[in-house]
Amino acid sequence: MILGDICTRSCGFCAVQTGKPTWNDPLEPYRTAMAVKKMDLMHVVVTSVDRDDLKDNYGSEVWAETINQIHEHVPDCTVEVLTPDFKGHQPALNTVFAAEPEIFSHNVECVERISKKVRSQADWQRSMEVLRLSVDCGLHTKTGMMVGLGETFDEVVATMKQVRKLGVAIFTLGQYLQPTKKHFPVQRYLSDREFTDYKKIGLDLGYQVVESGALVRSSYHAHEQARIVIGNKS
Ligand code: SF4
Repeated sequence: MILGDICTRSCGFCAVQTGKPTWNDPLEPYRTAMAVKKMDLMHVVVTSVDRDDLKDNYGSEVWAETINQIHEHVPDCTVEVLTPDFKGHQPALNTVFAAEPEIFSHNVECVERISKKVRSQADWQRSMEVLRLSVDCGLHTKTGMMVGLGETFDEVVATMKQVRKLGVAIFTLGQYLQPTKKHFPVQRYLSDREFTDYKKIGLDLGYQVVESGALVRSSYHAHEQARIVIGNKS
């Protein structure tokens, strides 16, 4: 996770600390690349807190430089970025797209009807727009959502259809777990059968990869997904 450990947002499901970030580390992109090199990674998933306080570019330049540094120092490693929405600021998104991550990922997190309750500072349609812009830029694009937050089966299927129509290739779906008693309560635990059904529906809709299961998270089997979608980097 780059750009510090304090987030300017406070989503009801997330255990990351909220507050006023004090992060200031111009060498973070280089140091991240060095860590990737040291671990000899073939695929890395990079994510960040939201930095709505950085009004000029929302941290997008740090994102792009991190991708560039990994590509430069570890050329055989594929880079997957799981980004914020950058408040839908198109120049910020273009900055990240231009660095050409092998996979661009941004999560819709939940179905649209309950989105304001689950993550009040986000905008579900804005997340859809982020995904659309990524696909339009020609990037392999991925998204994910949690279930068990009060959504219906039909709403999940409708979301999968809407996202697939944008051209998104990878969809992940996992059970929401409440991090502490202060967080949004779990409404329901889904059965393995329900996760299997969602996977089948997603593949029938044309996704290249659907990861669906109680413990699936955004980076679950990310390396294998990347190999399916983009093949081996050489
Ligand atoms: S924006 Fe991301 S890191 Fe920040 S609180 Fe929401 S989910 Fe957590």
